[in-house]
Amino acid sequence: MKSGELHSYGRCLFNKFCGFDKVIITKSLSKKLIDYVSEEIYTYFNKDNKKYYDSLAALEKRLFFFISSTSHAPSLDVEDMVNLKNDQTNKIFKNLPNNNIKLGYYIVEALTNRALDSMDENSSLYKLYKSGSRFSKAQLARSAVAIGYSADADNVVIPRPIKTSLLEGLSEEQYFMVAPATRKSIKDKSRHTPNSGYLERTLVMALSMIEFDLDDCETNNHLEFIVMSNKHAQTLVGKYHRDPNSTDREWKVLDLKTAIGFINRKIEIRSPMTCQNPNFKICKKCFGEKELKTKYVGIVAGQCVVERLTQLTLRTFHESGRANLPTDVEILKFFEDHLVDVETDESGTTLIFDNDSFPEKLITNQNPLIYGLTQVSNNKLIFTQDKSSIKNQDVIAVVNTIKNILKQGDVFQPIEDYYSNLMAAILEVGTIYSSFIEILLANMFVVDYNNKLFWRYHQDQTPTYKLGDKRLAAYISSRIGLLYQPNKNTIENISLDELEEIDQKNLTIYEKIYLGQI
Ligand SMILES: [Zn+2]
Repeated sequence: MKSGELHSYGRCLFNKFCGFDKVIITKSLSKKLIDYVSEEIYTYFNKDNKKYYDSLAALEKRLFFFISSTSHAPSLDVEDMVNLKNDQTNKIFKNLPNNNIKLGYYIVEALTNRALDSMDENSSLYKLYKSGSRFSKAQLARSAVAIGYSADADNVVIPRPIKTSLLEGLSEEQYFMVAPATRKSIKDKSRHTPNSGYLERTLVMALSMIEFDLDDCETNNHLEFIVMSNKHAQTLVGKYHRDPNSTDREWKVLDLKTAIGFINRKIEIRSPMTCQNPNFKICKKCFGEKELKTKYVGIVAGQCVVERLTQLTLRTFHESGRANLPTDVEILKFFEDHLVDVETDESGTTLIFDNDSFPEKLITNQNPLIYGLTQVSNNKLIFTQDKSSIKNQDVIAVVNTIKNILKQGDVFQPIEDYYSNLMAAILEVGTIYSSFIEILLANMFVVDYNNKLFWRYHQDQTPTYKLGDKRLAAYISSRIGLLYQPNKNTIENISLDELEEIDQKNLTIYEKIYLGQI
């Protein structure tokens, strides 16, 4: 370095990392200057290829070390990750059953929760994890706890779990076992993202005629169903409800505490599916007390439901085909709090707990949630193998279930069942305000197909046909159908009379845009 020249410490260090004995690179660096740096190095070493490549390799190594060993970048402390698992957890994982998916899945989930809950709150890992911007629970679990169960290309769960984490490394055998799952996740991302994108487009257009209109349609029509779970109860908060067992017939806004009291019981709610607001619109009371800044509630509902699915479809890529199975909260909590050891041999798997107050659901013989229980002795449960093949319940399976429920066809079950099934599927991936789900089904049921009589306005009759997401818009109005999908089907089905009589008061948002009114 020439005397009298002053450079910052960082600049000197970088030039040293490049292998220079003086400061050559003085610009502040950015991604765009990669070529410039590389050329300077090439020139400095007199265009000697070997020296040039060695210098680049050394630079990479030094920068990597610098970034990961100093506080200049938020970094994961490997020590923290190693400490996630204690000796007991390690031992249990080694003894995971190879032949009972459900049982093994509960153990993996419970121990993962236990490991993550015991994380030191001051560690950088905890801060990064809780910030929510870095990695999901599934990703952290795969990296530092255990890979666990994955699904193959047909989305069937592979019976043998991977008992180690990426941090500990995989054996050759494990590597090849997990490879199909990784391939599946790459395939899923490219194949299914357009699928949910298309569903969003279809729903948004098909539901575009559902707008807020009256404040209260004053109907007494309602949906009556059983509140399935805590999550389901949460989605109902804000709806107008009645207790079918109460003599009080007033519609009241539902709060969380009351909603939870309805779990496993019947509730009556005002719903967009039974709203009597004319012209396929809905009243605010049937929607419930949820603030919405627009009146185009149908469009919001379509987006709200599918946006979640699209995001989750994209995210499956990061989880590399990790199996996702429904678990029972009570059983999982019992495993998490009380499982102390697992022993496996050829005859089966013995689970040892620190007490014997097993949840009834776990030890029952009728429709057990975990198959293969052969013996309960004091604080031990002995399971045999369970060879049944299990389908992975990932978001793609959920999207397919939802699409099947929304398909057009004959109505073969009570209306409430369509709602409950759709809700159950969506609850697998998150909680969405119940009215948004009801809006999807609001104008779908028809009692007389030829005369276009909708069940919503003829609830004394039995619905016979369900329109489905694609048929919905076109069936209600030729105009919307033509705007939305100008294809062979809509053109052939078009009613010319309908096209001529435009009712200026009842245009949907797309018709208004088309006519230049927005
Ligand atoms: Zn209403």
